[in-house]
Amino acid sequence: MRLHYDDDTEAFRSELRSWTAANLPSEDERTEPVLSSAHMPDWARRWQRRLFDAGWLVPGWPPELGGRNATPMQQMVYFEELARLEVPRTCNPQGLSIITPSIVDWGTPDQRERFALPTLRAEITWCLGMSEPDAGSDLAGLRTRADLHGDRFVVNGQKVWTSGAHHADWCFCFVRTDTSAPKHQGISVLLIDMRSPGIRTRPLPELTDPEHADFNEVFFHDVEVPAENLIGELNHGWAIAGGSLAHERGMLWLNEAVGIERLLDRLVAMATDPPAGVRRLADGARARDMIAGAYIRSQALKLLGYRGFAKIARGGQAPEHSSLKLLGSELRRQLAREATAALGSEGADLGLHLAPSFGRRDDEAWALHYLQSFAGTIAGGTSEIQRNIIAERVLGLPRR
Ligand SMILES: Cc1cc2nc3c(=O)[nH]c(=O)nc-3n(C[C@H](O)[C@H](O)[C@H](O)COP(=O)(O)OP(=O)(O)OC[C@H]3O[C@@H](n4cnc5c(N)ncnc54)[C@H](O)[C@@H]3O)c2cc1C
Repeated sequence: MRLHYDDDTEAFRSELRSWTAANLPSEDERTEPVLSSAHMPDWARRWQRRLFDAGWLVPGWPPELGGRNATPMQQMVYFEELARLEVPRTCNPQGLSIITPSIVDWGTPDQRERFALPTLRAEITWCLGMSEPDAGSDLAGLRTRADLHGDRFVVNGQKVWTSGAHHADWCFCFVRTDTSAPKHQGISVLLIDMRSPGIRTRPLPELTDPEHADFNEVFFHDVEVPAENLIGELNHGWAIAGGSLAHERGMLWLNEAVGIERLLDRLVAMATDPPAGVRRLADGARARDMIAGAYIRSQALKLLGYRGFAKIARGGQAPEHSSLKLLGSELRRQLAREATAALGSEGADLGLHLAPSFGRRDDEAWALHYLQSFAGTIAGGTSEIQRNIIAERVLGLPRR
């Protein structure tokens, strides 16, 4: 079976390719490293701004929001191309892909102007304050509270696993505003200036890069937030949480599917024509099985995604999309584990490079990649929670 797009969609792809070829920041331009998911070096700000100005930042949106009213099919091609080039649109993915759409969906015109547009233009960065020590999968258990005093909220509590909080300008923060209501009904969302007095961030070093923490604990002590920074209605934050997570999961599967294909390309190259200085991957039956198995699963993932997407483009529902995050993140972890094992002691050798990704170090070994691959099975809802969602909402099985 050979899938292809119509001529108009292919013309869209060519236009995007020419534009990226002419505008992608060069290696020389990208000297300053990206330190966290809310740290934007100047070159990254310039790149995102170029995308915004040219209508390539969020193609499905209208031009005033950095888009070009692209059709769903064109948007799919867009994400396919960016994943192929390994070019993220932004160095603050949560700000662009989760928080801005939530502000556009739920914010007032003034909030769009003050917060969504500057984020799109790469002038400000964000962190996402959802998880707490006792509220992860069960987000509704959150206890950071905000009490309204006149025209300000006063916030007290703690968040954890807040990516990029130590570099972010603002926090999209879920807080409890009614302690007497049932737990899903007393939550609101506040936009909190991270420079406000009373906020302390404590970076949490990670196994995979102890020197550059991305995660943080964030402590709020009597932090004053103007009441006008409430997003949506008071005590209606739970609906915003659902929307934010849907934005997070949106097109991630395509990135994952193309990313896995590229990892496989590298493995095949290591088995057939290894880069200089890299030992050839053993050409045994086990390695062949591993690569072929992973290839089949990656194609199944991609085709499942395309099938669902075709249904959405025709105006229907795509229940298969609820399994893509689960399948993609678990396949990546499985591939990294099997590749590490197949490479034996060399799998843990920092000399065996994955190709450098945009703005990142290029010394990631397969074992390191394996350790990193767990993140995808936890962030945005763990695999167990995804299975619960599929069981209850897609298959209609009774709740436990
Ligand atoms: C890379 C990464 C980036 C992140 N960035 C952010 C961020 O910027 N902001 C933010 O707020 N959070 C962030 N998180 C946190 C993430 O949202 C939570 O880790 C996630 O929701 C799980 O919550 P938890 O860690 O508290 O685990 P828990 O909810 O305590 O779960 C522990 C274990 O129990 C299982 N479990 C829990 N409940 C059930 C159930 N009902 N049925 C079956 N099994 C269950 C889970 O699957 C898991 O294996 C990030 C996480 C990662 C990995």
